[in-house]
Amino acid sequence: MAEAGADWLHVDVMDGHFVPNLTIGPDVVRAIRPVTDRPFDVHLMVSPVDPWISRFVEAGADVLTVHVEAGPHLHRSLEAVRAAGVQAGVTLNPGTSIETVRPVLHMVDLVLVMSVNPGFGGQSFLPEAIGRVAALRDMAGDRPVRIEVDGGISAETVGALAAAGADTFVAGSALFRGGPSAYRENIRVLRAAAEAAAG
Ligand code: ZN
Repeated sequence: MAEAGADWLHVDVMDGHFVPNLTIGPDVVRAIRPVTDRPFDVHLMVSPVDPWISRFVEAGADVLTVHVEAGPHLHRSLEAVRAAGVQAGVTLNPGTSIETVRPVLHMVDLVLVMSVNPGFGGQSFLPEAIGRVAALRDMAGDRPVRIEVDGGISAETVGALAAAGADTFVAGSALFRGGPSAYRENIRVLRAAAEAAAG
């Protein structure tokens, strides 16, 4: 994937409790870490999340993102991520108020906007994510916060998100379509659409 032009590898960790699916744990992250030197962007859909933070940092995560609801204490979870020496991200489900991020915005490198409900790949994009990105970009002001969007990203959706202020996009189905020989072209199309809209 990195050879095809991806900047980061986004790793979706699901616990079968916070979200209705079960994926991988820190041992798999550790096993795939040597495959590329690109940053590992680890999205923890896990609750309670705190016991897992150091495990994923030790396994090789470069960015750790936790859900607003996955604490139970969001501020404490983000302090733990920062203390572990990796980039900290906070993420909002489609039903989570963006105001929940305001008290911790100074602590994070990244805000991840879910544009589907987390738990499965291949879901349809929820267009209200565009307005939420714009509101978060406005809230961040001069602060150098990355705004990432996860869910239903395609050449059709990425432009409006980039225009609203998103700068990082998680692609699943749109990237894997056509098999490995198509990855490079799929990434090129997404990047071109985002860059054209961002201006
Ligand atoms: Zn994700």
